[in-house]
Amino acid sequence: MERRLTGDFQSLRSGEAITALAARICEEAGPSLRIMEVCGGHTHVIMHYGLHQLLPDGISFLHGPGCPVCIMPKGRIDHAIALARQEGVILVTLGDMMRVPGSESSLILERAGGRDVRTVYSPLEVLKIAGANPEKRIVYFAIGFETTAPLTAALVDRVLKEERENIFFHVNHVLISPALHAIMADDHVKVQAFIAPGHVSVITGAGIYRSIAAQYEVPIVVSGFEPVDLLESVLMIVRQAAEGRREVEIQYDRAVDFEGNPKAQELMERYFVPRKSFSWRGIGSIPESGLRLKEEYARFDAEIVYEDVLPVGEPCEHPACLCGEVLRGKAEPLHCTLFGKGCTPDHPAGACMVSSEGACNAYYRFRQV
Ligand code: SF4
Repeated sequence: MERRLTGDFQSLRSGEAITALAARICEEAGPSLRIMEVCGGHTHVIMHYGLHQLLPDGISFLHGPGCPVCIMPKGRIDHAIALARQEGVILVTLGDMMRVPGSESSLILERAGGRDVRTVYSPLEVLKIAGANPEKRIVYFAIGFETTAPLTAALVDRVLKEERENIFFHVNHVLISPALHAIMADDHVKVQAFIAPGHVSVITGAGIYRSIAAQYEVPIVVSGFEPVDLLESVLMIVRQAAEGRREVEIQYDRAVDFEGNPKAQELMERYFVPRKSFSWRGIGSIPESGLRLKEEYARFDAEIVYEDVLPVGEPCEHPACLCGEVLRGKAEPLHCTLFGKGCTPDHPAGACMVSSEGACNAYYRFRQV
């Protein structure tokens, strides 16, 4: 079977390629197929290029939980705020976290109120901040999937090797595979195929999805991030469905293989272990879906060092916010009564409106009604 079309075209954004792929999908598609694109980056591309409008009526995209900002529960944001309020602490995190609402505040409001909250593009920038502020304690609020966890592990590695004493970690890294199991275990979620995230898979390898494809009998294709990548991935899924195959395939083979990056995996395993469970915003607790520092590194673990000042429990979400349903593919952003009124990118009520990878944010920017 001819599988690849991408090489036929010079550009992965070529209108000719997009039109040809959409036509083939329409020719070959069965009556119905609900495909969850797990990654928020994929959601953004789908909405930006209007790819959903090119598909036959029976094929729909469900937006998944692959945006690390969107799935961060309020309780963890409250931790970041409590840490930022500690005397002598500089709280450092990635930029997208700044506007995520906690129970009563956000990091950007804390900074406006005089707290020292800084953003970085790479965790290794924390070393520079710590070097310039030896009298301060630097707490790195680490977020992200397997894509960014190795970078945090690399920072832990440098802290140990350079015997840094003033850098601490609040670890909120999460794992994609347990989240997909949780989605498929929910009887109300009707996912029939997955477009798996490209960046995570560069690190983990596509092999992590084999158990999901086998257990739930769903086609899974790891996709790149250009419109031609995504449409080719849809076509690969359509063909799997037509042929009765339920396999893991890699469309994004210019970056992903089945084994992943062993050095990055080793770095993560050296410093992190899975938590018993981690609470995902709107989804709830998922066993072994989050990482924490190993016990031997407890002296750097802000959750232990600052245990006495960190709020306990998980606060309630805004009662009208449908983020949980959106992240599990049960609702579209437009179903939320707050969309575009009580919730906008400038004044987000829920986390899915904050990040450019959030489904609500993508709908607001590219499909506002
Ligand atoms: Fe939550 Fe806002 Fe999306 Fe509604 S529009 S689901 S409040 S993020």
